[in-house]
Amino acid sequence: MFITFEGIDGSGKSTQARLLADSLRGLGLDPVLTREPGGSPGAEEIRALVLQGDPDRWSAETEILLFTAARRDHLERLIEPALAQGRIVISDRFADSTRMYQGLSRGDLRDLVDELHRLMIRREPDLTFLIDIDPEIGLSRAKGRRGHEERFEDFGLPLQQKMRAGFLALAAEFAPRFRVIDGARDPAEVAQDILALTREALG
Ligand code: C5P
Repeated sequence: MFITFEGIDGSGKSTQARLLADSLRGLGLDPVLTREPGGSPGAEEIRALVLQGDPDRWSAETEILLFTAARRDHLERLIEPALAQGRIVISDRFADSTRMYQGLSRGDLRDLVDELHRLMIRREPDLTFLIDIDPEIGLSRAKGRRGHEERFEDFGLPLQQKMRAGFLALAAEFAPRFRVIDGARDPAEVAQDILALTREALG
């Protein structure tokens, strides 16, 4: 089973992805916990190219190609082999992040994102947790972190608000695989809900 976590910066999705992996290990399962952009050595190199340095280094279109290349490598080298072995794969972000960030933040490029996805990725998660949070809470959380490649400030609050609305619209568009989770609550409470929903999906 392929499970992804999505949400705006500071939503707590990375913490929740880790807590779910820990809980599943506690149940005797052997999940793979990974993240995007990145997740494989090549994709991590692309992550550094995209997230560090001058934000205007790449055009919006080139950035979509780089994210798609990173995802393709991640998929080929890590995700597909692990799924083929019957393991649960948990990814902190996946294609929905590109639909939102690259598809919406620098003009409306969703068609290009979708076309490249169709050509190069195709895979959709079985289950996606959208950790929904007010961007102002997300911003204060994200600012409290150290050593994190932050694009949040480049994006700014209005854009994060647009991303939040976009993620909720995406959850409606791909409704069967999405579970929208209120991320403003205590992380342990959020984690409990996520574990219950995952166990339900595992059957
Ligand atoms: O999820 P994480 O916080 O590691 O993401 C790192 C940064 O990359 C975030 O600030 C996020 O907004 C940005 N990002 C992006 N496009 C993606 C995925 C993440 O711009 N497809």
